[in-house]
Amino acid sequence: MTKWVYLFKEGNADMRNLLGGKGANLAEMTGLGLPIPQGFTVTTEACTNYYECGKKISDEVEAQIFEGLKTLEEMQGKKFGDTEDPLLVSVRSGARVSMPGMMDTILNLGLNDVAVEGFAKKTGNSRFAYDSYRRFIQMFSDVVKEVDKAKFEGALDMMKTAKGAKYDTDLTADDLKELINVFKGIYRDALGEDFPQDPKVQLLEAVKAVFRSWDNPRAIYYRRMNDIPGDWGTAVNVQAMVFGNMGDTSGTGVAFTRNPSTGEKQIYGEYLINAQGEDVVAGVRTPEPITKLKEDLPECYDQFMNIAHTLEDHYRDMQDMEFTIQEGKLYFLQTRNGKRTAQAALRIACELVDEGKISPEEAVSRIDAKSLDQLLHPCFDPNAIKMATEIGSALPASPGAATGKVYFTAEAAKLHNEAGLKVILVRLETSPEDIEGMHASEGILTVRGGMTSHAAVVARGMGTACVSGCGEIDINEEEGYFTLGGKTIKEGDYISIDGSTGKIYLGEIQTIPASISGNFDRIMKWADEIRDLKVRTNADTPADALNAVKFGAEGIGLCRTEHMFFDAERIPKIRRMILSKTKEAREIALNQLIPYQKGDFKALYEVMEGRPVTIRFLDPPLHEFLPTSTEEMVALAKDMNVTVEEIAMAKASLHEFNPMMGHRGCRLAVTYPEIAKMQTRAVMEAAIEVKQEKGYDIVPEIMIPLVGEKKELAFVKKVVVETAERVKAYYESDIEYHIGTMIEIPRAALLADEIAEEAEFFSFGTNDLTQMTFGFSRDDAGKFLNAYYDNKIYESDPFARLDQSGVGQLVEMAAQKGRSTRPDIKLGICGEHGGDPSSVEFCHKAGLNYVSCSPFRVPIARLAAAQAALAYPRDKK
Ligand code: PEP
Ligand code: MG
Repeated sequence: MTKWVYLFKEGNADMRNLLGGKGANLAEMTGLGLPIPQGFTVTTEACTNYYECGKKISDEVEAQIFEGLKTLEEMQGKKFGDTEDPLLVSVRSGARVSMPGMMDTILNLGLNDVAVEGFAKKTGNSRFAYDSYRRFIQMFSDVVKEVDKAKFEGALDMMKTAKGAKYDTDLTADDLKELINVFKGIYRDALGEDFPQDPKVQLLEAVKAVFRSWDNPRAIYYRRMNDIPGDWGTAVNVQAMVFGNMGDTSGTGVAFTRNPSTGEKQIYGEYLINAQGEDVVAGVRTPEPITKLKEDLPECYDQFMNIAHTLEDHYRDMQDMEFTIQEGKLYFLQTRNGKRTAQAALRIACELVDEGKISPEEAVSRIDAKSLDQLLHPCFDPNAIKMATEIGSALPASPGAATGKVYFTAEAAKLHNEAGLKVILVRLETSPEDIEGMHASEGILTVRGGMTSHAAVVARGMGTACVSGCGEIDINEEEGYFTLGGKTIKEGDYISIDGSTGKIYLGEIQTIPASISGNFDRIMKWADEIRDLKVRTNADTPADALNAVKFGAEGIGLCRTEHMFFDAERIPKIRRMILSKTKEAREIALNQLIPYQKGDFKALYEVMEGRPVTIRFLDPPLHEFLPTSTEEMVALAKDMNVTVEEIAMAKASLHEFNPMMGHRGCRLAVTYPEIAKMQTRAVMEAAIEVKQEKGYDIVPEIMIPLVGEKKELAFVKKVVVETAERVKAYYESDIEYHIGTMIEIPRAALLADEIAEEAEFFSFGTNDLTQMTFGFSRDDAGKFLNAYYDNKIYESDPFARLDQSGVGQLVEMAAQKGRSTRPDIKLGICGEHGGDPSSVEFCHKAGLNYVSCSPFRVPIARLAAAQAALAYPRDKK
């Protein structure tokens, strides 16, 4: 028979998956002989079973819960619902990893109209007993039954007014008795039934509520943000109550063994004399620093310090502990590895290595790779954000916190930034001509677009905060306002956005600038020694590339050449090329592009100082590059010396129903080989010249995008080779170069063995590969993905976190097929997944040679690659 319930004394810290973090640690502390109020844990498997049984606790689980309860009663020498000395318990959720999105604690469970009398008798304090009961009714109604807690708070306030009481503590036992009746009435009115008097019913209802809370929207959101699988479930901990509110020798508090903000080694915490846990959290009374306990209850303080140090030494990590003192006796209610800022995480890990407590490998494996974003981008002041008004949320497209005045055009953003203002650019969606405005902005907010949309990709490259795809926004760019969450925000009003969480706030919020300490370099060095995967960057400009090198990039894995034409002076030139009707006209336009391309490539090669550089040939989804406004069309007509009507007609002839699946990638080079010729010339001439001028040994890697057929690649490759050889002959150079392709169309993955006959390397373009495998547009998926999360169809955005079971299969298969044809084929990934830790782990396991990601994600990828290597060592034959 499955064991669904474990007493604390039956478990240990290794049983985290089954008992949840809290349960496993309570068991471990019990084993260490520490003072823990005893109890039992209903397992995470019981939670899964609850869902499998159609949200019902099965008879078997129920029976084991009551067996556990019986043993607890025997251990405590008290009985549930007893009229003399009732057993009271707390009920708390506890998943494998702590999840703030889930249910709060329920305290004092087991009280009813009769037990409260017994409790009053036993404690000799009826006021305390009635207060505990009214708190329990309030918590149970709110947390378990979702009755609006404001109703109870209102009733409490009315009672205080009626009795002339200033504080809750001014209410007498009789007042509280009256209040309990009012509370029970509120319960009855809201639910049409009486407050449950049977403690066993209370307990089962509470356990069910914890199980249900696993699937509340906050928990689902938290899981998505933190890559926590939906099938883990939560455990439930039922623990005998101890009371910190029994007078001046009682109290309760929370403490960390090291400072969770800075990492400094020093006990850090606060406590309240004569209080229950919720008083500390609710902030009704100001807690005292833990050092004050030394004066108030010196023996407890000494014991507390001893246990705190024991726990840290035992777990070899910073601990976050909750404790209660009941009439001079200290109890620990929980310990866990404490949550900490990224800064503190680095410091603690390094200092634990220096103290000889952990190895560098353990230090590397303990840092949450994603949390490095906190160091590399500004974040909100934690105190300021608590007071902020959230008005909406959307996709966390590029991390960092930004606050500024709203402007709706790139020009206005640029103008106001030049005038010294901080700006948030709000657009329906961004396009290449917005680039300067995007640069000038602290943050970017778009109504449309997914995690791989133009705004997301470009913002990530620049390290600018971006929240994209906020379909809830009603925008009027023309009149300069938008509405969201019932608020109207006009041009020039302040808003704040958090690109790490996707949240949007009203008004200005204080930010804290990014800062990197020496500990960062130490951890990164250790990570570099451990990892197998190389880490490259996706960079299109020398400035981005330089930034990436500073962050440790070992090469460029993707230079999107169409992005090199984003600036205002250049964009007309690429438009001119796209809109040319004849080969001659196109060649004229291309000749104008050559100097830019060559100059940019030279600058990139110089910055990369001989590191590998993969240059992807033009792949402009036409909708991103065609002129949209009348002014742009007029300007272009003038530039091309044609009429506006002709531009309009050319534009209409290029109209595509689905530009993402349209005339882009190698299809352009197949129709217009002169484009590939021009680019090859620029790539090769730049490499030869930089080699001659600077001595860097450059081996350009030319990457042909959107290939789905070997012959398609062979066709473009022929153009490239002929041109490259001509350039080499002209310069009398023996420079090497490689030609490879992106695997971003499912057909290419299926036929990767054939394609590898032509390709020297593959780079997985998982943005398009995801789009085409799922069959939904990368720019539109944001509109419906939320419904998929809510209905538990998908757990995360497949454009942010690689879909390992579907798209991943194509990657693995293509890697294997590629290698079967060409054993030394170089394999990388350059889709946005290259900077996502779980996807990096997948790439390590799939045997890829490198990942490539935006500059600011390079450190994250380095760390994630090392963590993957530690978790899944490669066979190094
Ligand atoms: C991809 O498709 O994954 C890719 C890197 O190319 P792009 O995002 O430019 O389409
Ligand atoms: Mg692509």
